[in-house]
Amino acid sequence: MSEVFNVEQIFGQNLFTLSKMKERLPKNVYKEVVKVMDQGGELSMDAANVVAKEMKDWAVEHGATHFTHWFQPLTGITAEKHDSFVAHPDEEGKMLTEFSGKELIKGEPDASSFPSGGLRATFEARGYTAWDITSPAFLKESTCGTILCIPTAFCSYTGEALDKKTPLLRSMEALSQQALRIVRLFGNTEATKVVASVGPEQEYFLVDKDLYMKRTDLMFAGRTLFGAPAPKGQEMEDHYFGVIRERVGAYMKDLNEELWKLGVTAKTQHNEVAPAQHELAPIYETANIAVDHNQIVMETMKRVAVKHSMRCLLHEKPYAGVNGSGKHNNWSITTDNGVNLLDPGETPNENIQFLLVLACIMKAVDTHADLLRQSASDVGNDHRLGANEAPPAIISIFLGEQLEDVVNQLIETGVATSVKEGGKLLTGVSTLPDFQKDATDRNRTSPFAFTGNKFEFRMVGSSDSIASPNTTLNAIVAEAFCEAADRLEKADNLEIAIHDLIKEYMTKHQRIIFNGDGYSDAWVEEAKRRGLPNIKSMIEAAGTITTEKAVKLFERFGIFTKVELESREEIIYETYAKTINIEALTMIDMAGKQIIPAVVKYTKMLADTINAVKEAGADASMQTELLGTVCEKLAAMQSALTELKDAEAQASKIGDAKEQAFYYKDTVRMIMEKLRTPADELEMIVDKNIWPIPTYGELMFEI
Ligand code: ADP
Ligand code: MG
Repeated sequence: MSEVFNVEQIFGQNLFTLSKMKERLPKNVYKEVVKVMDQGGELSMDAANVVAKEMKDWAVEHGATHFTHWFQPLTGITAEKHDSFVAHPDEEGKMLTEFSGKELIKGEPDASSFPSGGLRATFEARGYTAWDITSPAFLKESTCGTILCIPTAFCSYTGEALDKKTPLLRSMEALSQQALRIVRLFGNTEATKVVASVGPEQEYFLVDKDLYMKRTDLMFAGRTLFGAPAPKGQEMEDHYFGVIRERVGAYMKDLNEELWKLGVTAKTQHNEVAPAQHELAPIYETANIAVDHNQIVMETMKRVAVKHSMRCLLHEKPYAGVNGSGKHNNWSITTDNGVNLLDPGETPNENIQFLLVLACIMKAVDTHADLLRQSASDVGNDHRLGANEAPPAIISIFLGEQLEDVVNQLIETGVATSVKEGGKLLTGVSTLPDFQKDATDRNRTSPFAFTGNKFEFRMVGSSDSIASPNTTLNAIVAEAFCEAADRLEKADNLEIAIHDLIKEYMTKHQRIIFNGDGYSDAWVEEAKRRGLPNIKSMIEAAGTITTEKAVKLFERFGIFTKVELESREEIIYETYAKTINIEALTMIDMAGKQIIPAVVKYTKMLADTINAVKEAGADASMQTELLGTVCEKLAAMQSALTELKDAEAQASKIGDAKEQAFYYKDTVRMIMEKLRTPADELEMIVDKNIWPIPTYGELMFEI
């Protein structure tokens, strides 16, 4: 009988969990680890040595040969440099593997080639990685063998963060401290910390490997730069939640198994809206672990696809004309004694706390809408936001009918005496309605939607790290909590002070609430009237992180220094310019070496045909007309190609990163469109046997 697959047995098999530590570590060392995990601080070197030895022994027992400090530089993906456990053999030639506490806790990769936005000169290559003890080490199995991965933060010699993890951890601490002040106001003395939880829903496309290999654009840019629409797209709505194809099913099965082994709680899988588009969602967990796990999910998706002779596309917009991919970032905040601050709760007492939290979040999101929008921007996401398939680039909050009604009542009269649908009637200043879970319909068009006991931030791009959105969310909410607590802690009559503050915040920031259709043009107009920012692109959003307001926020809570923010802004411009540069060069390559030569061949075929038809004494006017059209579009392509080459040469001369990025956005991208349009039109005319690259139909339906 074949072995029965048991998910309980394999779950976390490749993860050095707390329970494994408990089993293997002496009691006092285990206690020290748990203490540092809960309360921060550093492990003593003695304890670190013991942990390192046990971790290594466990890893070696599972076939590991190397370890790596696994970190998340500003490239948005992860980085690793492997060191084997091999040590110097003794006189008899016997080798015993080694791994010290020092190696576990700190690393010093030569880090000169990671983006640093000027924070670290190349001659000053030192970068340090430090173990994030709260995220468990794991074993990565690949053709390299089995590697022990130790999640770390990555900083410069002078202590500046060079990664996405460090600021995230800092923001989590800030949020915890400030949220504790809020729950203390309500008599919660038990909670010792407040944790941000995150559940990211990951969308992706699959494509056949052989077809992918014939598309230079997919290989280099991760998206198609040419391609006419297929006769069938997503209009039948038959893919969403449809039956999963055999090949995709086998992929998902493997993917789940790999993820479960790594302790990632892969939970939901389904087909998405576009053909060949799918989604995976894990169960939510603590923000930093969710960020790590999302990186593992993206990496595993790609690796498993290769095993199945496919490729996984995480780009936000692989194909024009069909939906792109995003990542819904579900976020909530919970005390360590189990109170979700975003849960409306059952007793009026907790409802007041909820309303205060809600008022603070309204204030935070309204005050820092620009930052939140920025945190969800990457090059690919510029194709999605505001393109009628994803939320607009305007930040607003969806509360649902029921909650919005409560907010309106509070604003108008200072008391919420009724609750829609629930039918409960309560009176008095401190009595507030007992909300049912959001009974109203969902609103898929909102960028920031309240969904029962969490907010769903829907702007994030599919390929992007979720570190920045969560760092920003934590930071802005920490600030609002802090300002509220500053006032309320001093209040003579707390009940009245809370009531006044809720009313004040909700009134002042009411404009951020929008329950209507976020995809409509009317909303764009309305948002403008309300004075809400509508920042159209990634590079227009970049400057928001260095405004006085942003620097004040991030410095106040020790999340970013001004210098770190400036360096990150610089990196955004660089990343943008580099990405569009690659896209433009890829287009030049494809147009010049593949598409134009193929079309030229086709014109020769047509010309030969015309001559032959004429010689045979028949009418060749149709063929002549076709040849005329093809030549016209070919000329348009050739002229755009020349223009694009010139623009590229121009771009490379611009020294200032910001100026260069804007040149790519405003000039190079426009010319790329000019080159694509005639090429896509030609694809619809030219003999299929001559067209040099797989079509949209093949890419999306042949799987
Ligand atoms: P939807 O129906 O919108 O897909 P789900 O309940 O399936 O919502 O959740 C989607 C994601 O949100 C999952 O990753 C889930 O674990 C996560 N999630 C659920 N509750 C919370 C919460 N309280 N905090 C953060 N994330 C959550
Ligand atoms: Mg959802």
